[in-house]
Amino acid sequence: MTQKKTNPYPALLEIPAGYLNIMGYIDESEVNGPGCRAVVWVQGCLRECPGCFNHESWSFEINQLISIDSLVEKILSNHRNQGVTFSGGEPFWQAPALASVARKIKAAGLNVMSFSGFTLEQLQSQYAPAGAQDLLGQLDILIDGPYIQSLAINSPDSLVSSSNQRVHIFNPSLKDKMTWASDQIEVHIFKDGSRLITGYRGQLELEE
Ligand code: SF4
Repeated sequence: MTQKKTNPYPALLEIPAGYLNIMGYIDESEVNGPGCRAVVWVQGCLRECPGCFNHESWSFEINQLISIDSLVEKILSNHRNQGVTFSGGEPFWQAPALASVARKIKAAGLNVMSFSGFTLEQLQSQYAPAGAQDLLGQLDILIDGPYIQSLAINSPDSLVSSSNQRVHIFNPSLKDKMTWASDQIEVHIFKDGSRLITGYRGQLELEE
């Protein structure tokens, strides 16, 4: 499924206005940020980090299109969700649509967190993907930096998967909620029998 692109914009232009191209979605995750939250995995990442445990997210080809309004409705319809986490793939390649989702989610009183393979400084620079500033402005928490296998942390009390990654807490009210550990897994089993494994799998090598 990997499709190497040095410029993802032609593929991103295939996404209709008001829509996101996502790889997956779950409710009620407790290993992808503070509390109980929805997780949106966006489709598309250029980095190809060795050891990436989400190869299916690399391609920028259309996988699953969902409108901004449908995604917001989905997140808010589960009352156990206290927030949403954008993961990937690289969320910032779809920053304009995610910023719209974030605005609506925050207006409903939930918090918003994102992972990014970019550093905060790169996202604040003139070379950032389009809409990066807008999305940054909506975030309560950002975890930045790519996963670097040689710097992997397999610890039950680490918020990040490799030591180069940093946790930026933009919303001070969440400072005492940083209690999840990246070295945990969850297995979500859906009504149709399919399953989704999330969280950092480290050396577990689980089969999906
Ligand atoms: S940035 Fe994340 S999704 Fe992209 S290749 Fe690296 S680990 Fe995988």
